[in-house]
Amino acid sequence: MNGKKTTEILAFAGPNGNEILFPVATITGKGDGPHFVITAGIHGAEYPAIVAAITLFNELKTENVLGKITIVTIASVNAFEARTPFVNPLDKKNPNRVFPGNPRGSYTDVLVHYLFNKIIAEGDYYLDLHGGDLVEALEPFSLHHVGVNELVDSKSRELAQYYALPNNIATTTNSSWSDDGTSYANAAKLGIPSAIVEAGGIGQLDQDSVDLHLRGLKNVLRHFGCLKGEAFEPIGQHYYRDFIWLRSPVKGIFYCAVKLGDSLRTGQPVGTVVDYFGNLLVNIKAPVAGKLLFLTTSPAIAVEGLILGIGIK
Ligand SMILES: [Zn+2]
Repeated sequence: MNGKKTTEILAFAGPNGNEILFPVATITGKGDGPHFVITAGIHGAEYPAIVAAITLFNELKTENVLGKITIVTIASVNAFEARTPFVNPLDKKNPNRVFPGNPRGSYTDVLVHYLFNKIIAEGDYYLDLHGGDLVEALEPFSLHHVGVNELVDSKSRELAQYYALPNNIATTTNSSWSDDGTSYANAAKLGIPSAIVEAGGIGQLDQDSVDLHLRGLKNVLRHFGCLKGEAFEPIGQHYYRDFIWLRSPVKGIFYCAVKLGDSLRTGQPVGTVVDYFGNLLVNIKAPVAGKLLFLTTSPAIAVEGLILGIGIK
């Protein structure tokens, strides 16, 4: 097999005359191996993930690749261009809540439909690269879906393990935090071992987070026989059985009293929400004991606005 690298912009017709564009970079190796699909920029303001995906494509040499690697470098191009966190600017939907998509829905539904069916579903393995969004800081972590079957579950866990991030959470549709509608859970349900991997945040393009993603990508590709070289065995990783997201019961200004990575006790004060004159509205407390894995960094909190996420063992 002759190896080659190609880039193209895949275009699909979206609703109301809005085009859907995916920048897709493909590496076909010189030997046989699995087909890895990698997406970044499903959230368009998670920059280390996007840059790691682009760097991977540019760094890998076809003679070292076995099989094929398909990389969508920015899955939500118009969110990237508009610097919109969490959602697509055209219909305000979060793409990572509407998988596997809907060809007759609004823009994000259609985008996800094509991304899932034309690209992700073609792979043998799938990694979805994320980080904290513009107003979100996080400890690097992965999520993988469990509950399909033993083989897919264990391979998904291996993807998370060899990506070598320090925190790893197994999720299900019925977890406290449901993974219904996410890219990785829907891919797993199709029988494709999958994980979402998160590093970086708050709109920063920091090299340490890019490097964490790149190290994980290469290690996973080596472990699964898609890249020449020996994978390293990650050590000291933490595994969590559930993910608790804490929301504010009121809108207001949030004053945070905890730090990323803190081990929280049940009932521990995590901050307060005050009104626009500084009057206390509510004391926020940790609902469970666990590790603080992500934190909203903006003090502007809406009703039901997300404050933080806790991994529980
Ligand atoms: Zn994201």
